[in-house]
Amino acid sequence: MFTLPDLPYPLDALEPYIDRATMEIHHGKHHRAYVDNLNKALAGQDALLKMPIEELLKNIAQVPDGSRQAVINHGGGHANHSFFWQVMAPPQNSSPAGKLLTALNSAFGSVDKFKEAFTARAMSVFGSGWAFLIKKPDGSLALKRHSFQNSPLMHGNTPILGVDVWEHAYYLKYQNRRADYIQAWWHVVNWQTVGDLFNSR
Ligand code: MN
Repeated sequence: MFTLPDLPYPLDALEPYIDRATMEIHHGKHHRAYVDNLNKALAGQDALLKMPIEELLKNIAQVPDGSRQAVINHGGGHANHSFFWQVMAPPQNSSPAGKLLTALNSAFGSVDKFKEAFTARAMSVFGSGWAFLIKKPDGSLALKRHSFQNSPLMHGNTPILGVDVWEHAYYLKYQNRRADYIQAWWHVVNWQTVGDLFNSR
């Protein structure tokens, strides 16, 4: 069975950029629902229920036809949110460093240009979805836009950074102002973890 991971920080730790009420509902209700629905979709399929969620998505073709779309939706939701909590941290004015900094400069020209391009990608998601910075199998970086909960893992890519632009991620505090949410969200990016993900995968 899949389980809801604890947040790596208190519910109010991302204030004032991401408010406590949003975190409470986003983690406790939305993420929990993805986990519960994933378990329901795979009921009785013990081998699949034992796989790490990343492995399940990387091997999505092995999931039986009748469960596959539910795993894409709810398994993707579980993986994306587990990842999302990890790439955020209490605001600390950190910035990319080390090999990640070198790679961002090389791929985008500068950290500021990377942030502009990433923000534009997140703003261009029509409806519910995500923007990701991914590491391709050849080690290069790229920006990707994904609808719904479709995971980069299904395409053989490794997410390094991602922002949830479903309205449930920001509507309580920002209503329709997605741009304000994304601008605020940069303050809580956990660059230490993003750098570790880049180095380790
Ligand atoms: Mn979400």
